[in-house]
Amino acid sequence: MRIYFDHAATTPVDPQVEASMRPYFAGRFGNASAQYEEGQLAHKAVEEARIKVADLTGARPEEIVFTGSGTESNNMAIKGTAWALRDKGNHIITSSIEHPAVLESCRWLERAGYEVTYLPVDEYGLINPALVEESIRKETILISIMQANNEVGTIEPIAEIAEVARRHQIKLHCDAVQTVGNIAINVVELGVDMLSMSAHKLYGPKGVGALYIKEGTSLASLLHGGHQESGRRAGTENTVGMVGFGKAAELARERLIQGPARLEKMRDTMIDGIMKRIKWVRLNGHPKRRLPGNVNISIEFVEGEGMLMHLDMMGISCSTGSACQAADLKASHVLLAMGLSHEMSHGSLRFSLGHLTTEAEIARVVEVLPGIVEKLRAMSPLTVKERVNA
Ligand SMILES: *Cc1c(COP(=O)(O)O)cnc(C)c1O
Repeated sequence: MRIYFDHAATTPVDPQVEASMRPYFAGRFGNASAQYEEGQLAHKAVEEARIKVADLTGARPEEIVFTGSGTESNNMAIKGTAWALRDKGNHIITSSIEHPAVLESCRWLERAGYEVTYLPVDEYGLINPALVEESIRKETILISIMQANNEVGTIEPIAEIAEVARRHQIKLHCDAVQTVGNIAINVVELGVDMLSMSAHKLYGPKGVGALYIKEGTSLASLLHGGHQESGRRAGTENTVGMVGFGKAAELARERLIQGPARLEKMRDTMIDGIMKRIKWVRLNGHPKRRLPGNVNISIEFVEGEGMLMHLDMMGISCSTGSACQAADLKASHVLLAMGLSHEMSHGSLRFSLGHLTTEAEIARVVEVLPGIVEKLRAMSPLTVKERVNA
């Protein structure tokens, strides 16, 4: 049995979610926009799913638009606002640690003449609401800040940032792909105008996301064609995916009643175990304000990719902040923004736990990781001692 520690990348589809989707592949295949019986069955299923996603987030069903991914939700919020408010201004505020779906949408807008402020973060990856306020100009039309960072798990002060946005009457978008389903959230309490989510991060299927759009928010569509999703997103409804998302949302809501205590305890056991047994390790992200299932560490004098390979051979899946892109070893933009050196960024590992993670799996990683690190450090061109003294 493999041990899966990459739930921040994607989660397995819950068997109950899979079962809920199955009838809509062939038996109930109707086009949700059609007037006859097959269509009405599909339409009803889509609207029930919308209610479940709304219930999970404290939104009203009319405020939920289904999309094709978390990536699309982020693109829609950012580009859609930029287009809708283009006569009002051309400045956007975001952070330097956002998901590429936010950063690249902003960079694309920069090429089209928009101006973007990428806010710095502190050593824990936290964004300072006061800095958000200082960055506001009279041309500012949008603030886009994630609720929790996908790499280091730091949970941002969204409610405080929403205060600032409200005071200046600027729209606030929040990428909540890592939080929806993992911690209890409520769009009204958070005070956001738009919020992105993705089904496959909460035991739902891949290829379906949603964007919460607060009533009265002006937003241009990215996809034009039919009148689906109240005219906000054209294209025949992905009934199967939406039904699966709805079921996943319903199950997440039940799970959240238990609270995150179990996951948090396993997370902290893992962090403590690794820190105790390996020298020159640093915890990345905030020690307290972090996702219940996130463990992100930097291990000095080793490459993340090397550790990843060895762990994989031992049946353990996790991820690293260093990605070998072509010939270039690219360090995580998140860790660099937090002030880590390139070397420390390359030695990072992320273990993201899920609700099926067991204590035995945690114990296994804590048991095998020190040996892997020792082996890789012994192979490194400079010995640890020489490097420490250098
Ligand atoms: C996974 C993720 C996304 C992208 O969602 P997809 O559905 O995979 O496109 C966006 N933002 C964050 C924070 C994520 O973790």
